[in-house]
Amino acid sequence: MPQIIDGKAISTAIKEELKIEVGKLKEEHIHICLAVIQVGNDPASSVYVGNKKKACAYIGIDSQSYELPEETTQEELLKLIRDLNEKKEVNGILVQLPLPKHIDEDEVIRAIDPKKDVDGFHPQSVGALCIGQPGFVSCTPAGIIQLLKRSGIEIAAKECVVIGRSNIVGKPMALLLLRENGTVTVAHSRTKDLKEVTKRADILIVAVGRPKMITKEYVKEGAVVIDVGIHRNENNKLCGDVDYDDVASVCSAITPVPGGVGPMTIAMLMHNCVEAGKAQ
Ligand code: NDP
Repeated sequence: MPQIIDGKAISTAIKEELKIEVGKLKEEHIHICLAVIQVGNDPASSVYVGNKKKACAYIGIDSQSYELPEETTQEELLKLIRDLNEKKEVNGILVQLPLPKHIDEDEVIRAIDPKKDVDGFHPQSVGALCIGQPGFVSCTPAGIIQLLKRSGIEIAAKECVVIGRSNIVGKPMALLLLRENGTVTVAHSRTKDLKEVTKRADILIVAVGRPKMITKEYVKEGAVVIDVGIHRNENNKLCGDVDYDDVASVCSAITPVPGGVGPMTIAMLMHNCVEAGKAQ
């Protein structure tokens, strides 16, 4: 049986640590506040936004909610972001993605003050990560590093393979593993002989966005497997990018879906909000 990397327990531990820290900051009259912007009422986005606000309330972070109609213009959204950039009491700004098609996401992300970019998506935050300078790191990959470290899994000198090169998961993940002294390979849809590449991995991070694509044929005996994917199957049950039961028979440690990477994303968002509050 492999070690099951318990993202629920680890994220709870992080939230408890943050709750204590936020309590101490409040004694020094430092209040932390996250502004959450949602445009339109996509049901999945509403669930994510609700969960983020719940986590804020639990930890003691104030949250301001901006629920804008679907037809909000680019200029209206940019103006709100500029206003929030100026507001002293707001430490973090989060724009829930995806945005409606008529809005240019890149321009919206660029409008956020990098000091308040708690999602870590601003080009300045990404650049800082790339050259090893301080800045906010995208929450999902930052959460995966915490999962590995808090499960006692050494990254330095390990062969790490990341499947996926998206801006919010794959690329920052590769940079973080490199920062931890892993030897990193990034695979994607144009990679030749994917199985041969993934079988080299001591640590395999799967962010491919395809339900249960990764079976044991892709995994080296004894590897650590981190599944970033989230999908609903035909029975409305959650599953990941990894075929869990199949891969569990060969790996040494694995994250389940749900209860693996998912809960870490919000915990790291809360961590970034606290860091933003302290820095400001
Ligand atoms: P994207 O769709 O943006 O990226 C998928 C990546 O996988 C791309 O780089 C693509 O390559 C690559 N890919 C697709 N098909 C193949 C293939 N057959 N072989 C090799 N590589 C392939 O997804 P995201 O990075 O945004 O998300 C990945 C998964 O993680 C999704 O299931 C998503 O729902 C989930 N997710 C979970 C989060 C959480 O909190 N747990 C947070 C964010 C995402 P190419 O670049 O060449 O197209």
